[in-house]
This record gives sequence, structure tokens and C-alpha cells, in this order.
Amino acid sequence: MKALCKLEAGPGLTLARTRRPVLGHNDVMIRIRKTAICGTDIHIWNWDAWAQRTIPVPMHVGHEYVGEIVEIGQEVRGFKIGDRVSGEGHITCGFCRNCRAGRRHLCRNSVGVGVNREGAFAEYLVIPAFNAFRIPDDVSDDLAAIFDPFGNATHTALSFDLVGEDVLITGAGPIGVMAVAIARHVGARSVVITDINDYRLGLAKQMGATRTVNVERQSLKEVMDDLGMQEGFDVGLEMSGVPSAFKTMLERMNHGGKVALLGIPPENTAIDWNQVIFKGLEIKGIYGREMFETWYKMVAMLQSGLDLSPVITHHFPVADFEAGFAVMLSGESGKVILDWSD
Ligand code: NAD
Ligand code: ZN
Repeated sequence: MKALCKLEAGPGLTLARTRRPVLGHNDVMIRIRKTAICGTDIHIWNWDAWAQRTIPVPMHVGHEYVGEIVEIGQEVRGFKIGDRVSGEGHITCGFCRNCRAGRRHLCRNSVGVGVNREGAFAEYLVIPAFNAFRIPDDVSDDLAAIFDPFGNATHTALSFDLVGEDVLITGAGPIGVMAVAIARHVGARSVVITDINDYRLGLAKQMGATRTVNVERQSLKEVMDDLGMQEGFDVGLEMSGVPSAFKTMLERMNHGGKVALLGIPPENTAIDWNQVIFKGLEIKGIYGREMFETWYKMVAMLQSGLDLSPVITHHFPVADFEAGFAVMLSGESGKVILDWSD
């Protein structure tokens, strides 16, 4: 089958032929229709220090996808051939304390599809049936293909009650802009988002941000004054991984504020603990998606009118994957979809 492979330890990916994955008794085989490019795939493309330590070579990568089930292992219940599915990319062990308690997102032994094992940038993907998630007919293939990052945004945004709250989001990448739409959908009073990229702040505006702030040109404090916010933000969603953004967030939180951290900062990033202690801030780290509560919430929000369509900005046939990666690398994109269906 065709797949986007890392054939050698170095930058880039190659569209190559590789063997079709083997189906186990508890697995489903998915014929991939559409995939999306994640920031993680960009790290893999660039072959940065993280990718060099993490990605086995040769291997095909990718973990944002939608497809249909074409084969089912003999032990699998609850799925049938032809079901349209996406899938949870964290494959959990099932036997650690958290897995056994149903807190699968806290599994200490999780393995990543397209990171630690073969991925979805391929004609066929095999995953445990447990990880497959059936997509209702009223959700498009495009949206189904981005359930993984949509799930990151959902898990983070729904970590704290947003009803009537003033929300600060740092980082208007695809996940940050989806979090804007979610926060508005569930009833935040105001959603202010920061970035240094005007294209992405434009997307955030389309997704419903109350104010967008390019922190290279304007201070967040100024915008807060303008909005008449005297006390500070109630909830912060850190979605940039940039230390200075997190620092500003801590400074601008109200006392008793709640902060969810999704963005991955550089190792040993220091923070001003006085902001946390004297303001009584609550800080929560977010990894992946809750299995499968986040997935049900995503469907429910789409079915109750959440509009994510502006975040999907580009489509390419998989043969043009290099153009797709180039547009992601330029920073002038939301989600980029690669079509495998020809
Ligand atoms: P992204 O890199 O596309 O977005 C980050 C954004 O932050 C960019 O638009 C960038 O311009 C912006 N930025 C840079 N400097 C800034 C500053 N000073 N202030 C505000 N914004 C600034 O990433 P993404 O795919 O949207 O993901 C968001 C973050 O979440 C990344 O750090 C990613 O590594 C992380 N992530 C974590 C998990 C998890 O499970 N914890 C999962 C997926 C992604
Ligand atoms: Zn586990």
C-alpha cells in the first residue's frame, strides 16, 4: 500500500510503498479517506531533537484521520464493515491503575499511533477496536479527520466551567482557534486570544473571538482595559507552548483563576510561583483526550451548532503532500487536509 514514510533519519517524508498492516483478533482495519497534518507531523518532518529520539525509522506516520472499516478481528464486538470511523491515537495498556479505573487518558503506558507505531498516513490503518470511534452521518469527513486536535481543544476547554466567564487563550494555532469556538459555544462571556501571527488571529476572529491580540504590537493589559475588565481572566487556556505567553497569562489571571495547560513548553521553563500561590490559581495539565467522554462531547457540540469550518483552510490530494506540508510550515494555515480517496 501507499504510505507517507520516514525512510531515513533526516528531514522530510516520502510517499512510498510499504506492507499492509496485519489485523489482530481485537483490531479493526480502516481504509483511510482523509488525513490532517498535525504540529507533531511537522516536528517529524523537520526531524528535530524530539523526533530523533522518538520516531523509529523506517516507519509511516500520521494520526489525524477518517476512514471506513474494511476488516474486523474475530474478537471485536460493536463495529461492522463499512462503519465510518476516526480513532483515539493513544493506545492504552488496559491494566494500569488508571486504565482499570476508566481514566484511560492517564495511562502511564500509552503508545502513540503514527509516533511510536505505524500511523494513518497510509491507505490502511490497523488499531485496536477499543480505539475506534464511529462518526455519525451528519459529521463531514473533513471534520471527522480533525477529531484528534479538536479533542485536544475540547478536553482543555471543557476542563473548567466557562459559562459566563472571561477566558484567555494564548496561541491561535489550530487548537487555540478551535478552543475559541468551543468557549463561545458553551457560554463564555468573552474570549480573548493572543498570538504573533496575524493570519491565525484572523482565523480566531472568524471562530468568534471577542478580541484578538498580536502581542508583538499590543499589550494584553491595554485590551483588558478597553474591555472594561478590571479584575482579570477567570479561565486561561495555554495553547502556545511559549514561556512568555504563559508568563503573561499568569499575570493577567484573576485571583482564584483556573488555568489549563495544553501547550508544551521547553524543558525547565521557569514560572513566577508567586502568581500561582498568592492568587490561589488552579493549574491543570492536559494530555490527549478523555476516552471517550471528550469524543462524545465533540459530536454533541457539532450537533448542537458548533461551527469549526473556518479552521480547515487547505485541501490537497496526497500526491501533493509536499505542498500541504509547505503551507503548514509557512504558518499561514489552519488545518490542512490530505485526501487519500483517489
Ligand atoms: P501551533 O504550533 O500551530 O500553535 C501555537 C501558536 O502559538 C502559533 O500560532 C504561534 O504563532 C503562537 N505563538 C508563538 N508565540 C506566541 C506568543 N508569544 N504568544 C501567543 N502565541 C504565540 O500548535 P497547535 O497544533 O495549535 O498546538 C498547540 C500547542 O499544544 C502546541 O504547543 C502543541 O505542542 C501542544 N499540544 C499538546 C498536546 C497535549 O496532549 N498536551 C496535544 C497536541 C498539541
Ligand atoms: Zn494503562
